[in-house]
Amino acid sequence: MNIPLVDLYAQYLSIRHDIDSAIERVITRSTFIGGEDVRNFEIEFAQYCRQREHTSGAAANLYCASCGNGTDALCLALQALGIGIGDEVITTAHTFIATAEAISSTGAKPVFLDIEEDTFVIDPKQIETAITPNTRAIIPVHLYGQACDMDAILEIARRHDLKVIEDAAQAHGATWRGKRVGSFGHAACFSFYPGKNLGAYGDAGAVVSQDEDLIRRIRMRANHGRLDKYVHEIEGVSSRLDGLNAAVLRVKLRHLDAWNAARQQHAARYMAVLRGSGVVLPAVRLGAEPVWHLFVIKVRDRDRVRVKLQQQGVSTGVHYPLPLHRQPAYKHLAIPDGALPVTNRVATEILSLPMYPELSADQIDAIGKVVSEALEP
Ligand SMILES: *Cc1c(COP(=O)(O)O)cnc(C)c1O
Repeated sequence: MNIPLVDLYAQYLSIRHDIDSAIERVITRSTFIGGEDVRNFEIEFAQYCRQREHTSGAAANLYCASCGNGTDALCLALQALGIGIGDEVITTAHTFIATAEAISSTGAKPVFLDIEEDTFVIDPKQIETAITPNTRAIIPVHLYGQACDMDAILEIARRHDLKVIEDAAQAHGATWRGKRVGSFGHAACFSFYPGKNLGAYGDAGAVVSQDEDLIRRIRMRANHGRLDKYVHEIEGVSSRLDGLNAAVLRVKLRHLDAWNAARQQHAARYMAVLRGSGVVLPAVRLGAEPVWHLFVIKVRDRDRVRVKLQQQGVSTGVHYPLPLHRQPAYKHLAIPDGALPVTNRVATEILSLPMYPELSADQIDAIGKVVSEALEP
């Protein structure tokens, strides 16, 4: 048996013809930076985030500015929302470092909250305890593909006049009460890193917002502060989606719902196969419909189980083994190791099992068997 954590080549094979002709089209036109595919992808992705499931009624218009990667998307959004030196931004330590790096890059300070034990995302009940006169924003991270409790978060943000920036890098298409992530906050940031649910063939990212002017300013800043070729309104940065990746993303966006549905089926099968095996299965919050970027179980003696799985040919991951407040990079924040007990405990128990649309039912059954065997004393 040899089952990887993700298999991007299998996905390519399933859409090879469309991808190859999209790439050829870009090369023939030589629109390598900017151009029609970039513009159209922005329109199509904004439209995608706006679609509702299980609910009717008109959703607010959304706008999209693409950029070089998900980290830049967060930096650009925070900056455009006026976050800077002296400000504090609340998020979690149980996330990829990019969330915190983006906060620091503006000159603001990341404030790490503990997570909910069962869903792995920010605990809304703790947010108000962390608000100070310097707090300007909250970054809820829709981790592993599951939306945070956006009702609770938006309500607290309204009451304290805080900005909400969704880190949706792992949650393309995930919904909260029938609305897709990206449509809740003042801005939402997506990564199209190859392994994400919607992944480019290289680095790529985007910001989505209901605020058209905010998106205009982000687009300007991401492209040297210009909207016109030779007029620079401000000093910006160079963080652009390239034409080849825009064309790849446009092809893949058409399959995203089917791929997410396959992930949902795989998650349901994992749940059925692993029930009663002694592992703690991932919890789904009532109102959330996850897109299972990762399928993360909790297991005692995780590192031993992990080795056993690898010996049987099942690759796994740990997202993430060392919480941000204990990373060398954040030593200067002087947060005591024990400050975030749930985050710390979870970091020793979590195990990401293989999860990608092309996984087969037989493979999931086989993985389930190997996990159960690994847990036998
Ligand atoms: C991947 C990721 C990012 C950053 O995206 P890049 O495109 O790699 O810069 C940010 N936040 C989270 C939670 C992520 O998983």
